[in-house]
Amino acid sequence: MASALTEKLSRLVKQVRGQARITESNVQDMLREVRMALLEADVALPVVRDFIARVKDKALGQEVVGSLTPGQALVGIIHRELAATMGEGVADLNLAVQPPAVILMAGLQGAGKTTTTAKLAKWLIERRKKKVLTVSGDVYRPAAIEQLRTVTKQAGAEWFPSTPDQKPLDIARAALDYARKHYVDVLIVDTAGRLAIDEAMMQEIRALHAELKPVETLFVVDAMQGQDAVNTARAFKEALPLTGIVLTKLDGDSRGGAALSVRAVAGAPIKFAGVSEKIDGLELFDAERHAGRILGMGDIVALVEQVTAGVDLQQAQKLAAKVKSGGFDLEDFLEQIRQMKKMGGLSSLLDKLPTQIAAKAGEADLDRAEKDIRRKEGIICAMTPEERRRPEIIKASRKRRIAAGAGVQVQEVNRLLKEFEQMQAMMKKMKGGGLMKMMKRLGG
Ligand code: GDP
Repeated sequence: MASALTEKLSRLVKQVRGQARITESNVQDMLREVRMALLEADVALPVVRDFIARVKDKALGQEVVGSLTPGQALVGIIHRELAATMGEGVADLNLAVQPPAVILMAGLQGAGKTTTTAKLAKWLIERRKKKVLTVSGDVYRPAAIEQLRTVTKQAGAEWFPSTPDQKPLDIARAALDYARKHYVDVLIVDTAGRLAIDEAMMQEIRALHAELKPVETLFVVDAMQGQDAVNTARAFKEALPLTGIVLTKLDGDSRGGAALSVRAVAGAPIKFAGVSEKIDGLELFDAERHAGRILGMGDIVALVEQVTAGVDLQQAQKLAAKVKSGGFDLEDFLEQIRQMKKMGGLSSLLDKLPTQIAAKAGEADLDRAEKDIRRKEGIICAMTPEERRRPEIIKASRKRRIAAGAGVQVQEVNRLLKEFEQMQAMMKKMKGGGLMKMMKRLGG
């Protein structure tokens, strides 16, 4: 889905190139694609309609500045508007009250309340240096109380015992009392969930809210729930003054479109994102990044520009043909390295990719990779044209000469030759399609 939308958008970006302003006709196709993409990403229909109308409103008649085309400008507007719909910047927790600050967790069973309670405890201990106590008000499932005890221990927080024969309100009072007496900074109250919304549950959590007067009432919702998340959010908003949303299971397959709908319906900022089952899998929600995820495009505009500006298409075609015929040599290898440099190096390309992909490559790795590329370029440059075309003639004495010329050890020359051999084999397998496919996808 991600690449499908990316592909469509880049094609449409091309179509509207060369026109001076954004008009009804040149954005219609793009908006249709975006609409489809949002629906596929599980954003609720009224939210999609509203969103598209706002984008259109902002975009129409807008002069296109600088080197941007209307299509590119529109992608920018869509991205910004998506981020704005989900919240501006990063919304932190409000803990500026007389301690203990109470956080009430609300949501359906299975949404991730208990897990998030422990994750949040850990986050507060580590990032905010708080003394944290957790308590479970889920007296309907003994296993739930036990689960909270286990994960709280993992989080390094304190756990307040409760038993199934107690009333949730009594548990809450006792925990609050304990927290006051023991100088706890934050008390997190996990509550019972049901598989579906029911009135008894809503009444119970309303009573808990009245008793505890929490500074934060967090609605925990499973991002993979898709459309259902909207109904759940509506019901909880009607029952409780929500102060924030935690969107869990964003590491799953879902495109996270629920974020848009839930934000709109619950009328509260998304404060955290659950990104793994593990206790440290909680992040402050970043609307900007999530917008990129929903569109699955990273900063596609910049990427399209960079790639089309830097790469000579003819050169790429020539290269592809060579690979196909098995004639890929060190000269071509060098050419590839140079193309990469023209495009601004690895790190600048990486910046433009969707965050999940980019996150896989760390800064240090990149730095090393860039240095490595420069060294390789140096080694190939130290070879004669004959050697570049027929690397098999490079034996010991030639290797020594090349190493000296490039200012490296002979082992490095060996390593490069070996790598080249492997690459050659790999490229033969790709039958020359890989690079061309990439170019096409990026709209070059
Ligand atoms: P509760 O019934 O609302 O308390 O939900 P739980 O905390 O028991 O979570 C239900 C399931 O979802 C458990 O298996 C959790 O491990 C899992 N879970 C919760 N949050 C996340 C998350 O952010 N990512 C993933 N992959 N799993 C999560």
